[in-house]
Amino acid sequence: MSFLKEYDKEIFDLCEKELERQTNHLEMIASENFTLPAVMETMGSVFTNKYAEGYPGKRYYGGCEYADGVEQLAIDRACKLFGCSYANVQPHSGSQANAAVYAALLNAGDKLLGMDLSHGGHLTHGSKPSFSGKNYHSFTYGVELDGRMNYDKIMEIAKTVQPKIIVCGASAYAREIDFAKFREIADAVGAILFADIAHVAGLVAAGEHPSPFPHAHVVTTTTHKTLAGPRGGMIMTNDEEIAKKVNSAIFPGIQGGPLVHVIAAKAVGFKYNLSPEWKEYAAQVKANAKILGEVLIKRGYELVSGGTDNHLVLLSFINRDFSGKDADIALGNAGITVNKNTVPGETRSPFVTSGIRIGSPALTSRGMKEKEFEFIANKIADVLDDINNTELQENIKKELKTLAQNFVVYNQPTY
Ligand code: PLP
Repeated sequence: MSFLKEYDKEIFDLCEKELERQTNHLEMIASENFTLPAVMETMGSVFTNKYAEGYPGKRYYGGCEYADGVEQLAIDRACKLFGCSYANVQPHSGSQANAAVYAALLNAGDKLLGMDLSHGGHLTHGSKPSFSGKNYHSFTYGVELDGRMNYDKIMEIAKTVQPKIIVCGASAYAREIDFAKFREIADAVGAILFADIAHVAGLVAAGEHPSPFPHAHVVTTTTHKTLAGPRGGMIMTNDEEIAKKVNSAIFPGIQGGPLVHVIAAKAVGFKYNLSPEWKEYAAQVKANAKILGEVLIKRGYELVSGGTDNHLVLLSFINRDFSGKDADIALGNAGITVNKNTVPGETRSPFVTSGIRIGSPALTSRGMKEKEFEFIANKIADVLDDINNTELQENIKKELKTLAQNFVVYNQPTY
């Protein structure tokens, strides 16, 4: 990209370094992925320069005829992908999408029941430092010591709390979420069921995880995690009234002009998600996470819930003398990027934790399969077995760099 190189060498150099980092390290953060060069190109397209407040056919600015075409395509593809009737593709992020759902359906102080952050939920599911825990009266459910949700217990909590909305979906949960069960719980207390499928959306789109439809009244997702699209959010529903309220909540409620270039890139991402290759990709994401978990168990490590049904594994060090933070740093030194994570029965602080979360989507996008994941899992275990051995970490980093370089990240970096 000569424009950037000529105009701003400092930023260009940082892009180069980031490309080198992404190429030579193994990205195993469960919420990250590599999107298509076509998606990245679209994000840098002429739509960057367009204001388009409003919705297709009802804009507050002139010259929106092509922006309308872009947004309508994104909406139509999203509805086809998830089998729903209405989609709002304007949220700038997953958190904005969630904020809009609450703004549309709740009043300040209403009761919200969501998954505890320390048990795998997201900040926006009612956590106290987030707007969702500040503006609404939030209550939580969690997982049992076996790492799984107990739906009978969640039913009991819901009956006690009597929430107006129940949020299901998680950021760190390795098992399938039973949306039908959650709907039973919501119906028993007259609550709205809101599914945030940010983490598993790519699997849902491929039929590799049960769909929240027709159970949830409203569904949100990010578009950049397992969906492998551009960074952004989306809201979906089959209910016309909810759709109208959600649209008003996004614009003019909490956002101004939509990011038309990102909406265009979302449409491109959905085209990929609707292709036959997507089904293969999503199945491979699951197969890779599964073998990763199996090898780690074989090597004596404890997986929260004992395994995985999706794109991530949660490793627990609750019975070890090192923390999630120690493991995160040691693996980072060995060229493997993961994140520390709290685990059930947590005894350490959220900044230290007793676990790590490891995901398969990004390396699967680079073309890695079971063979490579088995190799990487063994390297992870080697590092953890001898966590203070920095020489070993250096050696593994070199070995993994060779592996990484055989799997191209971007054919053509578009910075
Ligand atoms: N919902 C869930 C379940 C998430 O895991 C995340 C992000 O990690 C979000 C929402 C928020 O997405 P964003 O970071 O785009 O605001």
